[in-house]
Amino acid sequence: MIDTAKLFVTILRVLSKLKVDTLFPDSVYDVILCYHAIEDDESIFSVSPGMFEDHVKQLSSSYSLVSVPEIIATKNDTKLPRVAITFDDGYKSIFTSAYPILSANNTTACIFMVGDKNMIQKQTGKKILTKKEVSTLVSSEWQIGWHTQNHRDLRQLNLAELKRDFVRHKNILKKSLNVDINYVAYPFGFYNERVKRLAYKSNFVAGFTVDGFKANSRSFDKYAIDRVTISSEMTADDVRMLLTPVGLMLNRLFTRLWRFKDSR
Ligand SMILES: [Zn+2]
Repeated sequence: MIDTAKLFVTILRVLSKLKVDTLFPDSVYDVILCYHAIEDDESIFSVSPGMFEDHVKQLSSSYSLVSVPEIIATKNDTKLPRVAITFDDGYKSIFTSAYPILSANNTTACIFMVGDKNMIQKQTGKKILTKKEVSTLVSSEWQIGWHTQNHRDLRQLNLAELKRDFVRHKNILKKSLNVDINYVAYPFGFYNERVKRLAYKSNFVAGFTVDGFKANSRSFDKYAIDRVTISSEMTADDVRMLLTPVGLMLNRLFTRLWRFKDSR
């Protein structure tokens, strides 16, 4: 997994040297980024605060930084690709490190939270957002989404388990945080037709995956909106290359490769 991530970043750097990004001056599309913790640690999914700040500076100068609801509800009528930011799992560092940086750039994000906070803390050794922090974020127009009760592969759950997760468990978090929860991000991006149908029936407005491509490719399926995972290896320049049409195509291919390797 780590080797593939490094290889992918190396390829992005070669493309940059070849100035492949200049081949698409007027491309207009939407991309939703998926970050995890904003911390300096060993995890391939953690991005350090300094690097995150570089990313955000790069993003706000080269793209229209928008919110997830904006991407879902409106067409891109700007001349630039639109980019929205999301965070999975609900780590405390989103509040302590990402929030000040995003606020300084006049932008917000959507956080997908796991119901069983103790499980995530135990598994990752990272702290999770407190209620107070969530309420500060929400009053700054951030969104809170659902990332399931215990972060399992939803394809493995039967219908009753899925219903309990999408309705009962989600409502417990919603009440405890006193927020609206309109979106669901499938753990590991795994879903099938049943998962999508139940997301719709459980009154989610949209469901998100991480297949690594544009948010509005092909027909816009609101219950399988794509996102692009950002890894710790990526500098701001890598992110810029990644978000070109060629970078995104390669990213989708590499995402498939990781999944294939992981599933064996
Ligand atoms: Zn997750």
